[in-house]
Amino acid sequence: MSGELGGGKMKRAATPFVICALADPVVNSLARQLSGATFVAVQTVGQALDLLLDRSCNLLIIDHSLLGDQATHLINVARVELGMSGVPIIYVVPKDRDPGLLRELVDELVISQVLFQPVDIAELIYQISRTLGIAGHDPIARDQTGEASRAEVQSAVATLWERFRSTNLERVEILEQATHDILTGTLPIEARREAERAAHKLAGAVGSFGFPTAALTARQIEMLLAGDTALSPDEVMRLADLVIRLRVELERPAPPGSVAVDQSVSDTAGDSLGRILLVTADAELDEQVTTEAQQRSLDVDHATTMAEARVRIACQRPDVVLLDLAPSEGSDAGLALLAELSNQEPPLPVVVLTQRNSLIDRVEVAILGGSGFLEKPLLPTQIIDTLYDVVESNRATESVILAVDDDPSILAWLRATLEPHGLRMVGLDDPLRFWSEIEETVPDLVILDVDMPHISGIELCKVLRNEQRWRALPVLVLTALTDPSTVHRVFAAGADDFVSKPIVGPELITRIDNRLERNRLHQRLAEIDVLTGVANRRKSSQAIEQLLRFARRRGDPLALAILDLDHFKQINDQYGHVAGDTTLRRLGELLGHSFRKEDVVGRWGGEEFVVALYGVSRSGAERRIMDVLDHFHHQRFTSPAGREYQASFSAGLAFFPDDGGDIASLYRAADRALYQAKVNGRHSVRSSGRR
Ligand code: GH3
Ligand code: MG
Ligand code: MG
Repeated sequence: MSGELGGGKMKRAATPFVICALADPVVNSLARQLSGATFVAVQTVGQALDLLLDRSCNLLIIDHSLLGDQATHLINVARVELGMSGVPIIYVVPKDRDPGLLRELVDELVISQVLFQPVDIAELIYQISRTLGIAGHDPIARDQTGEASRAEVQSAVATLWERFRSTNLERVEILEQATHDILTGTLPIEARREAERAAHKLAGAVGSFGFPTAALTARQIEMLLAGDTALSPDEVMRLADLVIRLRVELERPAPPGSVAVDQSVSDTAGDSLGRILLVTADAELDEQVTTEAQQRSLDVDHATTMAEARVRIACQRPDVVLLDLAPSEGSDAGLALLAELSNQEPPLPVVVLTQRNSLIDRVEVAILGGSGFLEKPLLPTQIIDTLYDVVESNRATESVILAVDDDPSILAWLRATLEPHGLRMVGLDDPLRFWSEIEETVPDLVILDVDMPHISGIELCKVLRNEQRWRALPVLVLTALTDPSTVHRVFAAGADDFVSKPIVGPELITRIDNRLERNRLHQRLAEIDVLTGVANRRKSSQAIEQLLRFARRRGDPLALAILDLDHFKQINDQYGHVAGDTTLRRLGELLGHSFRKEDVVGRWGGEEFVVALYGVSRSGAERRIMDVLDHFHHQRFTSPAGREYQASFSAGLAFFPDDGGDIASLYRAADRALYQAKVNGRHSVRSSGRR
């Protein structure tokens, strides 16, 4: 069964002819919404081949679910035996299609565009109109936002423009050649497609480099070149005029007011694994550590005084600082610098180096925010090991962005814009490699360009949302078009936000920050007990495990305390559940600010809290829990009904290594001590084992 649909009111004789191996309702819908083309539905390979032999076809659309493996057979015959090399093919495949196979398909069968099932009509219409160059989307004039914030990005942009200027001018050459060919004879369809692509890339790229007018001109050229009906004499003149204007606009010197910048902006993607700043007056130490660092692919910067360190950091922020608290300047100056760097946003990690037996306390350094503490004498390798760990673990918390755009100049621009904001970017210019890249990168956010060869950002986004693992991953889409139908397609595919090209740096950063912030909030909520504000069981046990590993390595003691509210059931019964909740919240708040930064507080059950205290003696730990109990018992609570009451807790303590070597045995010992405290009349603190 095959029949012609739509295309009743043809404007020109040469209405594009489209063969669709698609479900009938889809073809009907296409015919209704795209009156500029004739759509013919086919059900079998035989019907398709009959039509292909019978008349020239401008586009072939094949749904894999309709023809099965026969689909590739049809494409092969069309491409090879019928010699239809120039006819674009849109292929609709299952979402779980192996990306490797997809790549072969695109390479060997020259598929122009891959779409995924279930096919989205809006996306299909968009791709058809783009391929045929017929109306279907509104080429809305771009706004001039590029002008507004040019000052803020101009310096980085100027450098990049120098790098990508020639690439873009080569694209203009392609357009000039195409115009020349049209004026002097004919332009083969492949050359016309190439010119259209060049115009498309120019339109997407040059606006971001401070040439919004040129972007607009390129967009107009792209529209003229779309489709394959010959241009009218008027259109040819217009094309020639636009191409000349484009050349003039792009040959202007870089945008006014821009200054050449530090080459490092574009070179940050070098081979260095990180940058360290050595702050020491000890020349020998400096030399040894520098040699070792360079062998391990770390960049090194040097300062001999605290003042010089501040200057170096202001010039180029390192990934970690090694701060030698030698007596020369007095350790207070060093500790002041440490506190200052730890309070930066984001904090700059500092590893402190002291003489053995110096008066500086490890805990003091930890409280001031130090990331590590080393005592001399040490081998340079040991120092570098520590610095390396710090750089690595910081890398792990840094946000990684995977950006997919077929235009390398856009990727470079994105990198130059994102990296100074502490965002690491992985760029990908081949959308077919998206699946392997995302597995490898495990990004915190994805940026997708909409219009790319073979697979659009919209389709990638759809597939991403189909996978449980990536369902919550923030996706930002870059698009040159902001008409309602494009915006609709972007959100319908499951994207979180979109940014229009030409991209404006500050707007992009704000949108990325918003998305990342929201995700961090979700992550925080997954770690915090909402009622009391302390860490939940999962998070706090992880932290305690970490403290235990540290204590084992250094041979330091660790105390584990279980705190359980006394007669809490009665508080609920007598004053109500709301009062009970208030009591829990107040205890959570008190515990939250009663201990040092390196101690751990968590809520492990209904009215049970766990506290781990690092490096304290039995008596020291008992005293601190007693102090908290005293404080808590002196608080006065008022129930919603206005009745006053007081509360108390009992606590059981166990100690590493005496009472156990792991968290489970310590918990059991502390629980036995807690039981004793309850039996002994509650409102008391008990330690496990021998005294
Ligand atoms: P003991 O002194 O022996 O610890 O007695 P208790 O009443 O404190 O202990 P029990 O285990 O018998 O009761 C604990 C009560 O804590 C029971 C439960 O309803 C209440 N509870 C647990 N979680 C919450 C909560 O989130 N909010 C409130 N209001 N009550 C809670
Ligand atoms: Mg209780
Ligand atoms: Mg209980």
